[in-house]
Amino acid sequence: SIEFPLFHRTTQNSVISTTLNDISNWSRLSSLWPLLYGTSCCFIEFASLIGSRFEFDRYGLVPRSSPRQADLILTAGTVTMKMAPSLVRLYEQMPEPKYVIAMGACTITGGIFSTDSYSTVREVDKLIPVDVYLPGCPPKPEAYLGFICNIP
Ligand code: SF4
Repeated sequence: SIEFPLFHRTTQNSVISTTLNDISNWSRLSSLWPLLYGTSCCFIEFASLIGSRFEFDRYGLVPRSSPRQADLILTAGTVTMKMAPSLVRLYEQMPEPKYVIAMGACTITGGIFSTDSYSTVREVDKLIPVDVYLPGCPPKPEAYLGFICNIP
């Protein structure tokens, strides 16, 4: 990768040189960057976290559009059989370390689709490893923030 030198003048008139990559890595050290990915109504609750009411970027969470820049993926809502291969592929494209939150009853157990559905995945942890389960229909944005704010 290309490294761009940066120079910063300190109060002691000395110069520190570093690289853009170092700063980028440092700034990401304690931040989770979630992939903008949602499959159903639970994602509407997740999307509200981006807006001014919850404003989750104040915790360092910056939604990413590329799996290669994300270290968190939410399965927000029903995962259909058609979407399952895409979900697995997106997860595999994320760099380590990476985390998964299963958000909502539909993604955890099948929810309202847990019986008599030929088209939905009933337990997303059969596809990818889940780190945190957020139950509810849908879980409130506060539940998500509660998890984020309690990460050690
Ligand atoms: Fe929609 Fe409820 Fe299923 Fe979430 S758990 S995707 S809100 S039906």
